[in-house]
Amino acid sequence: MEEIRADGITKRFGNVTALKNVSLKIASGELFFLLGGSGCGKTTLLRCIAGLETPTEGRVFFGDRDVTGLPTHKREAAMVFQSYALWPHMTVGQNIAFGLEERKVEKKEIQRRVEEALKMVKLDGFAKRGVDQMSGGQQQRVSLARALVVRPKCLLLDEPLSNLDAQLRLEMRSEIRRIVKENDLTGIYVTHDQAEALSMADRMAVMDEGGIAQVGPPEEIYRQPISSYVAGFIGETNLLKGTVREGRQVETPNGVLTATPSVEGFQPIPGSSVILSIRPEAVEIVNPAEGSLVGRIIGRIYLGSLIQYSVGLDDGTVMQVTEQNPQIIRSPGDNLIGLRVSTEDVTLLER
Ligand code: ATP
Repeated sequence: MEEIRADGITKRFGNVTALKNVSLKIASGELFFLLGGSGCGKTTLLRCIAGLETPTEGRVFFGDRDVTGLPTHKREAAMVFQSYALWPHMTVGQNIAFGLEERKVEKKEIQRRVEEALKMVKLDGFAKRGVDQMSGGQQQRVSLARALVVRPKCLLLDEPLSNLDAQLRLEMRSEIRRIVKENDLTGIYVTHDQAEALSMADRMAVMDEGGIAQVGPPEEIYRQPISSYVAGFIGETNLLKGTVREGRQVETPNGVLTATPSVEGFQPIPGSSVILSIRPEAVEIVNPAEGSLVGRIIGRIYLGSLIQYSVGLDDGTVMQVTEQNPQIIRSPGDNLIGLRVSTEDVTLLER
């Protein structure tokens, strides 16, 4: 395992700037996620770290080594792709052995290490099988084994699960985390899938337009998003506009709410416009007199373990409210309801 550091990386493709002065430090042994909308630069950053792209400006360090000019195979990093990139006419064993043959490792040693790699991904005994006789999930395990067989210090994964069905994706989440941790690897994982990132990451970076919007552990990104972009990108949220009165009181068109700043020490001056983020699961439906906001139910989706309500407020704002284990199913209609949110669940966003 090895610390990975990107230092002021800019990458231009002609007149497209894919990365703008990105700096990141990924701790040794950490499973780190790069997340963000399409085209925000996740893959380009991963490829710069892997040595598959050369940054226009900036440096990449693995531990103390400046690897910016080194080819991929000299970085002790292995990459796993969404497409698996396996040779269909070869056996599982031949696919895995390829990297070692290129490195001129002795035959017996190759065989030993192929078996070891297959064991790590729980495919012992599959070496002689044709790759084309393996399921999608098994093929992704083979591509993981092929990455692990060269004993890398870093494992770089580019949307490795997006070609699998939902059930397999769930299983492979814990498998990949186990593999990274058991082998003391530093892992960087690119995905669109926020549930994948929230459930697997030690820390993650949310990227936006070639830059880093926020870095932190999943619970921090979810509970203390720095901006409305991050709040909206990770999980569902209600964003309300308001004006700061004094202290933490924010006046919205529908009433005054007391908020908690997302970033410690952030205290906007009275009169400034701000955005509040309120997660649907943080809102409780109560009597109108007990709510800090009031509205009317205008829609509902019943999902068994939970129910999602759309609640229309006076000024036309629609709030999403989720109730777990619903005992009462409320109907849309004219009855006023109150919405109660505790102060720590009303997040005052910096931007
Ligand atoms: P996605 O989630 O859609 O894969 P991404 O966040 O991984 O997106 P990148 O693939 O890194 O985004 O692309 C970032 C920007 O750089 C995009 O505008 C893309 O069109 C551009 N880009 C990436 N690779 C190249 C290339 N080889 N030539 C020209 N432009 C490129």
